[in-house]
Parts: sequence; structure tokens; C-alpha cells
Amino acid sequence: MHVRTLTGSLAATLLMSLPLLSGQAAAAGSPGDAAGSPAAARVLTYDASGSAEFRSAVDRGPEIWNESVEGAELRPAAAGQQANIRVLADDGWPRALTTSLGNGTVWIGREAVNEGHNTVRISSHELGHILGLPDRKPGPCSSLMSGASAGTECTNPYPNAAEKTEVEDNFAGAAASPSAVARSAPVLVAG
Ligand SMILES: [Zn+2]
Repeated sequence: MHVRTLTGSLAATLLMSLPLLSGQAAAAGSPGDAAGSPAAARVLTYDASGSAEFRSAVDRGPEIWNESVEGAELRPAAAGQQANIRVLADDGWPRALTTSLGNGTVWIGREAVNEGHNTVRISSHELGHILGLPDRKPGPCSSLMSGASAGTECTNPYPNAAEKTEVEDNFAGAAASPSAVARSAPVLVAG
């Protein structure tokens, strides 16, 4: 294979240039791309005004997901706007109530924070549930959905490749069949 003969630095340069090139293509809106371009990201608003001392950690969660997937984009809700996602703080264990794909409530529970679990990872993990991901416990720190099972020393707030793909598939499926998503029952996931 030719690829194997590339030097590390050349391979790295090529990898780094790929996102740049695709970004430029997207910005240019090249008509040739229209047929193959993905559906526009589904915009989901979130209201973190009830997240108390976790506010800054909670705001990182949507940023991480926005960096990680194309199918959904999380934005702060405008004042007075009904948000798709509410993020609250309470004294229980962190959990998420998903009413339908991309809609629900997240609690950043102080019980886990007091045990030493990372607040940004908690925020990102619980948002993962709202984006349709189940828990994958026990699991390694490289998995976001392994949650608390990866231990308090795990501070990774990023989904792994499989988790990103699953979210992309969820939103691609929702775009193709919105009624199936609307019919789904509320699901509460603890942790
Ligand atoms: Zn969970």
C-alpha cells in the first residue's frame, strides 16, 4: 500500500488539510457538492439557566457536541424561548429524561460531582442521552457513554468515533422519518 510508505509528518499534513479543504468547499457552496451534501444540521436549543454552579461546565457540553457531530447543532435558547433541552442542577445522581430525540431535561447531580466525577464529562454524557445514546457501562474512559464506570479519574468529555456515528445516524434517521421519533416514549436514564 502506498499509504504505508508516507512519512508520519506527510501523513499528518494530509490529515490536517482535509478538514480545511472540506470547510472551504462548504463555505464556497460549490454547486457540484449539492447532490452529495448532508441534510442541514438539526438545531436544538438548550437552557442552562437552572444549572447553578455548573453553568460553565454545562456550556462546554454543547460546544463539545458541536465540534463532534454534523447532524445536530446545540445553541443557547434566547431569553423567553422554549428550549429543546433544559439543564438543571440538583442533589441527586446525574440523569437525563429524553422526551423525544433531541428533547428533554438533564440534571447535573451533585452526588456524582461530590464523589469527584468531572462536571464537563457529566454534562456531555447526559447530553449524549438526549441525542439518543444509551449508557455503555462498564466501559473505558475513551467512551463518553461509559459514564461513571470509567472512574473519577476519567475526565474525557468527548464521544468516541462509534458514539459520534451513532448520533449522526440517529439524526439522519429522524430527518428521514420524523413521525417515528415523535412517537417515541419518554425515557429516563440515571447516570
Ligand atoms: Zn448515562
